[in-house]
Amino acid sequence: MAGIGTGRRVVAARPVADGPVAKRLAAGAPRRRRAPADPHALISAARAGDPRALARLVSLVENESAELRRLLKIVVPMTGHAHIVGLTGAPGVGKSTVTDALVRHYRNEGLRVGVLAVDPSSPFSGGALLGDRVRMQEHATDDQVFIRSMASRGHLGGLSLATPQALRILDAAGFDVVLIETVGVGQAEVEIASLADSALVVVAPGLGDSIQAAKAGILEIADIFIVNKSDRPGAQEVVRDLRTMLAMAHYGPGDWKPPIVSTTAATGDGIGDLAAAIGRHRDWLADSGSLAERRRARAREEISAIALAELRRRMGGLPGESRLDDLADRVTTGELDPYSAADELISG
Ligand code: GDP
Repeated sequence: MAGIGTGRRVVAARPVADGPVAKRLAAGAPRRRRAPADPHALISAARAGDPRALARLVSLVENESAELRRLLKIVVPMTGHAHIVGLTGAPGVGKSTVTDALVRHYRNEGLRVGVLAVDPSSPFSGGALLGDRVRMQEHATDDQVFIRSMASRGHLGGLSLATPQALRILDAAGFDVVLIETVGVGQAEVEIASLADSALVVVAPGLGDSIQAAKAGILEIADIFIVNKSDRPGAQEVVRDLRTMLAMAHYGPGDWKPPIVSTTAATGDGIGDLAAAIGRHRDWLADSGSLAERRRARAREEISAIALAELRRRMGGLPGESRLDDLADRVTTGELDPYSAADELISG
């Protein structure tokens, strides 16, 4: 179970502290009745701002609960309002700090903000992730902010299947902005960023700078570049490098050209500019028809992923499962060629 931050508290991600009683103890809250399990009631409560109902809904998604299908049927017609903003970048560039500063900014504007911190590379939420969340405690007493850490649980599809559903829950619950912050690096991070309407790539001087970002393949997906730690030496050079790189790319008329925003998230400097850039991108998405296009592309990916996961489940062909292991043995011993083995797997 991942760490949970709800409107009232931020709870540690230790299994022993995960039960409702432990949560109440941790929160020092009076004994209260659990929210109803009925999906309709849970969703109504979440839309009315009940953080406990929301936390339970996200847990249903994370645990691939049997109720998930029924839940999604109810949730999907309520979605489409939230602006989904992804933050990605090398560890240490300041993603958590930027997220935190953005939450503060949006709350000052009276918006409801959700934060999903996802770690595609780790099967568990570790201490570091939890440490990051401690900084978010400032928002822990705010009902209009929901913070949740998610880690891939090693089940079929992992985060790639669970994250879009968690986003839907927050969207249906009436959040205006949902920030997805990725922890860790690599291809999976790019996938998570592609879940967003607006993808923000954070770089910083001396650490995971623009060149490193290019290597990770995240430059292509950036809608907005953030050069954080502008108070540090070398920030101007990072801006210049990015400008040079962007100047080499070709943009047609009406295309979105990713802006570069300098921030010092630690003090909040530049966060207003960043929010303005996000707002401009959202307007461009809506006006250009790109929003619908992106969401359609995402739905396509998602349907394929669910269908493939289901097929693999039916075939029993996952690594470590006996049917696949038997076939692998026969291929290694030369009894069977891999094409015939794959045919056998598919035909059942
Ligand atoms: P993440 O790993 O990308 O989420 O990075 P964090 O948000 O955890 O930040 C890494 C470190 O950089 C922390 O010690 C922050 O306090 C520090 N940091 C974040 N933003 C700034 C900034 O604008 N200026 C400076 N000097 N330090 C910052």
